[in-house]
Amino acid sequence: YAGKSSNQLLGDYIRKLTVKEHKSIPVVCQEDTTVYDAMCTMFLEDVGTLFVVREGGLLIGVVSRKDFLKSLMGSRELAQTPIGVIMTRMPNIVTCKLDDTLLEAAALLIRYQVDALPVVKESSSEKGVEVVGRITKTTVTKAFVELGEGTPV
Ligand code: ADP
Repeated sequence: YAGKSSNQLLGDYIRKLTVKEHKSIPVVCQEDTTVYDAMCTMFLEDVGTLFVVREGGLLIGVVSRKDFLKSLMGSRELAQTPIGVIMTRMPNIVTCKLDDTLLEAAALLIRYQVDALPVVKESSSEKGVEVVGRITKTTVTKAFVELGEGTPV
């Protein structure tokens, strides 16, 4: 530790946190799931963002609370409309990888003003990326609290 200020040590520590260690389980639905059913999933799973996937976990979209509010403002039939109509679609999705640092992921959340990032890896079988996790503002807040309490996991 010779010559390092406590701020430098804290910075070193923060830069070592990885997406892989901190990611949580992704909550997903399919493109043909109805808006109504997707809303139910969001409540039941207690998340603010759902990832829309094809077979094999291939990422095709993201749907957030705001997307649901928008669809409620329209005159769509929520029990008939597929989620594919309202989701944000690939390639316009900001993602992170397993070996990114948590700091890099957090910077993306801020830069793109979104609440959640799918953690992805190249698909072994198809063209595209597979969803393997989720990083959200809560993930980062948790790491921050652990850091402050001195009980990092
Ligand atoms: P909320 O709706 O709860 O405010 P966000 O700010 O994350 O959540 O979502 C705002 C918009 O950005 C929505 O239209 C959503 O589909 C889109 N979005 C959410 N996450 C991502 C992401 N990782 N990449 C690209 N777009 C996203």
